[in-house]
Amino acid sequence: MKKNFIALAGGLLFLTLASSAGAQQRHPWSIEIHAGAGDISRATSNPQSDTATRATLKKAIETGAKVLDRGGSSVDAVEAAIRVMEGGSPSFDAGKWAVFNAEGKVELDAAIMDGATLKAGSVAAVTRSPHPITLARAVMERTPHVLIVGPGADKFLHQIGGEEVEPSYFFNQGKWNALVEQLKREGKPIPPRPAGAPPAQDQADDKRISSSTMLWMPGQRHYGTVGVVALDRKGNLAAGTSTGGSQGKMPGRVGDSPIIGAGTYASNESCAVSATGVGEYFMRLTIAREICSLVQYKGMPLQQAADTVIHKELEQLHGEGGVIAMTPDGNSVWSFNTSGMFRARLKEGGQVTVAIYNDEP
Ligand code: ASP
Repeated sequence: MKKNFIALAGGLLFLTLASSAGAQQRHPWSIEIHAGAGDISRATSNPQSDTATRATLKKAIETGAKVLDRGGSSVDAVEAAIRVMEGGSPSFDAGKWAVFNAEGKVELDAAIMDGATLKAGSVAAVTRSPHPITLARAVMERTPHVLIVGPGADKFLHQIGGEEVEPSYFFNQGKWNALVEQLKREGKPIPPRPAGAPPAQDQADDKRISSSTMLWMPGQRHYGTVGVVALDRKGNLAAGTSTGGSQGKMPGRVGDSPIIGAGTYASNESCAVSATGVGEYFMRLTIAREICSLVQYKGMPLQQAADTVIHKELEQLHGEGGVIAMTPDGNSVWSFNTSGMFRARLKEGGQVTVAIYNDEP
């Protein structure tokens, strides 16, 4: 009797260990990031900022990968990697380096979505958060809502004791120059230099700052939103996106990034997507959900679904930009119709791939 019991217990232990090892094998983690698309070409980029931007992408993806490798959730990994990119590089448009709106102010948007539960949180037009992705996560986890905007979102940040900064924290000369040049080209009024900004440099110095730190030049089309999709060892997908939106936008304008289904989407039933590009097109086409629907209902391979939406549907509307996307088996793809997109991917046990231009694999 005792022998039988020991044999049974041993068998159960073996089965439990075998099935948990199997579960781990079924879900090696996977992570993919982007930091915007646009006119990013070898001809106009300088080697110094190319190297620095690649280093920031590598740091961001490794930060997310570490979370996944410790057994952390995809939501944790998405937030951690995006926080590195929020303010990580002057070539990006998120957090500290966000672009200015037409009134010379920074208004930030972000979203995060949990593919296991379909819970989501977003913020739009926030002005005091250095890490809007963290605020979006708080909306997901600490409120009954999905999207909170403007003063309400700034107030929520304060109420939960989140990290707050003065609007002058977001000032930088390179992006100010880019705004002024755009508004001049468009014949629009130039807003006063923001309160708290350091005194203006002479013009030659301003030009030096913008050309030495950014991988794109004022006047070029550039979308520097940052985003992450990830799969954790439990097989759960998540997606997140954070942005300053489009330069010179109307105050109060909200893009696709914080709109669930447009710039950000995740479901374990289909895929996770984060987008970058002209948000107005991405919203009209609900691009993120569209890609996942093609996978879910048409059984399309992920790459084909992403390419169909970017190279057919988006191009038919004359929109531009790109996406990163991932299925629950950890397969990750990117698709974009611009000359470059800042991007990187990494799978458990693999090597990091970092790429910028469209001639890189
Ligand atoms: N999609 C963003 C927006 O329209 C911009 C970007 O991707 O950089 O707000």
